[in-house]
Amino acid sequence: MLRDLLIDSELFNELREKALDREEGENSLEEVELLEKTVFQRLKKKRSVKKYKKLGVNKRDLKEIIELADILGLDAIGGPSNYELAKEHQEWCNICGRCCRESESIFIHRDEVNILLNFNPGLEKEIIRNKLYPEHYELKDIQPCKFIDPETNRCSMYNSRPQVCRSYPLVLVESNGKAKNIINLRHLCNYSVHLVLEKSIILFDEAIRKLKENR
Ligand code: SF4
Ligand code: SF4
Repeated sequence: MLRDLLIDSELFNELREKALDREEGENSLEEVELLEKTVFQRLKKKRSVKKYKKLGVNKRDLKEIIELADILGLDAIGGPSNYELAKEHQEWCNICGRCCRESESIFIHRDEVNILLNFNPGLEKEIIRNKLYPEHYELKDIQPCKFIDPETNRCSMYNSRPQVCRSYPLVLVESNGKAKNIINLRHLCNYSVHLVLEKSIILFDEAIRKLKENR
């Protein structure tokens, strides 16, 4: 019920299906559901259903709001974009190092190769053609990436690391001819969980505002 105040249900289903299709392999449905469960446990502490019971709000509403937060950039409703939220809250990354140990590919755009090599001359031996997009490059021998310090989880070329590493857990994708930052939905990535949680809180509050307005 709450989510319908923010988006048409048919449009939501279409967007969700597209998002999950696109993320197939990366954000498997199982992984997305695990993230949603984790966010739900936290959201119900921030926005108690009891408090809004008289308005007809229930747990299902919280779950539906989270599903929307997974796929909708808040800039669509006049709020901050995924990029703006992530940039404001770098403390959400707890430096667990999972992204540096588990990423299947560390993509390097052909336009950033020269800059990367200027700062890290030894990197030449560590870069190979990208398997999916041969006009671009990627780091070789990852999982784990050899630039992560096993003790501290810090990157040894942090100040000049590839763009994908700077953006994580956001991933740049093409959507309707436009570049868009989507969240890599990983339940064990604290940054990703917090991003979805924060968006869910904003969406929940906006839906409640509309609900009260319509009464
Ligand atoms: S971005 Fe996520 S997975 Fe990577 S170090 Fe930070 S919290 Fe861990
Ligand atoms: S280059 Fe640095 S930030 Fe990127 S995956 Fe490797 S250790 Fe992590």
